[in-house]
Amino acid sequence: MEFYRDTWAEIDLDAIKWNVENTIKQLDAPAFLYAVVKANAYGHGDVQVARAALEAGAQGLAVAFLDEALKIRAAGIDAPMLVLGASRPEDAHLAAAENISVTVYDVEWLNGAKLAAGQRLSIHIKCDTGMGRIGLKTKEELQQLMDQMQQKESFFFEGIFTHFATADETETSYLEEQIKKFRELVDSLPVKPPFIHCANSAATLRFRGAGCNTVRLGISMYGLTPSTEMSHLLPFKLKPAFSLHTRLVHVKQLEPGEKVSYGATYEAEDSEWVGTLPIGYADGWIRKLSGQEVLVDGKRVPIIGRICMDQCMIKLPKAYKPGTMATLIGVQGQENISMEEVAAKRETINYEIPCVITSRVPRVYK
Ligand code: PLP
Repeated sequence: MEFYRDTWAEIDLDAIKWNVENTIKQLDAPAFLYAVVKANAYGHGDVQVARAALEAGAQGLAVAFLDEALKIRAAGIDAPMLVLGASRPEDAHLAAAENISVTVYDVEWLNGAKLAAGQRLSIHIKCDTGMGRIGLKTKEELQQLMDQMQQKESFFFEGIFTHFATADETETSYLEEQIKKFRELVDSLPVKPPFIHCANSAATLRFRGAGCNTVRLGISMYGLTPSTEMSHLLPFKLKPAFSLHTRLVHVKQLEPGEKVSYGATYEAEDSEWVGTLPIGYADGWIRKLSGQEVLVDGKRVPIIGRICMDQCMIKLPKAYKPGTMATLIGVQGQENISMEEVAAKRETINYEIPCVITSRVPRVYK
C-alpha cells in the first residue's frame, strides 16, 4: 500500500503466528481454535491477521458483525467463520450464502430468519452465564430453541458457547460459577453440537480451554496480556505484534518563555529543542496523551503542550534531523513503550489502544 505521510503502525505477522503456535502447544487436547479478528483484528488488519493466524494453525475466524465476516470472505478467505454478536434475522440468507455461522439466543430470531429455498444456516447458541450481555440463561429457553431448530431443516446446530466476565482476574469463584452454569446447560442437551466453547485468551492460557473442544483467541494472539493481573500467570511470553512510529517533520529551538501548542500551556524554561511529530488526535493519539513519553534515538522524551488534530510536539535533548524516527508504541534500542503504558496514561485497557488508532494511520506488515 502506498502512503505519503510519515506515520505508520507496523504489524509483525510473525509475532501473531508465534503467539498462535505457542497457544496451540499449551492446549491439553487438540482444540478447534477460532482466531478472533473482529474490529479489524483489534486494529491490526483483519485480512492480514486472519491469513497469518490460519497459517499458524487456527482453524476458524470469529468476528463481531456480519459485515466483518463478509469483508473477510470477499478477500477470498474461505475458513470456517462465526459471527459472535447479533446479526439481523432478515440478513440470514447473506450469512448462509457465504457459509458464515451466526449466533442465536432466542426463538424469535429463528422464526424471523429469512433464508432462500434450499439454504442452510449454521447456528451457534449463545448462553449468558454471567456476562449479562447477549445469550439465553435457562435450560427451558435452550430447550425451546432446540425444539424450534429441529422443526426446520434449514438450520444446522453447529455450536454452543458462553463468554466469561472475569477469566483474567486472580480470583476465580465467579469464573467457576460461569463454567458450572455452562456445563449444566450443555449437559441438558440431548444431542451435542460439534463446537462447544467458552474460553477467551485468558481462559485458554490459564485453563487450557476450560474443558471445551473449541477456544476463541483474541488479545493474546496479538501478543498482549489479557490483564496486568494475569501477566504472571502466562504459560509463555507473548510477542506484541503492534508498534507505532512516526518521524520528526520539524525541529527548532525555543527561547525561554516561548510557548507550545493550543492554549499556550507549555512554556520553555530554558533554551529548548522541540520537535514536531505528524500524528494527532484524529489518528487516535488523543489529547489525554499529552505528557506521554515517546522514543527518539532510543531515549524517552515527553510530548509537550496539547496534542493537535494532526500533529504534536516533543521536547528533544538536542537538535535531531527532520526524518528521525520516533516510536510511540514499541521498542527502540533498550527502551520499550508498551501498549500497557499507553493504556495506563489513557486510563483504559491495552485492548482499546490498537482499536482506536484510526484507519488514517497506515498499517505496514512485516
Ligand atoms: N469471544 C467473545 C464473545 C468476545 O467478545 C471476545 C472479545 O471481546 C473474545 C472471544 C476474545 O476475547 P480475548 O480478546 O480476551 O481473547
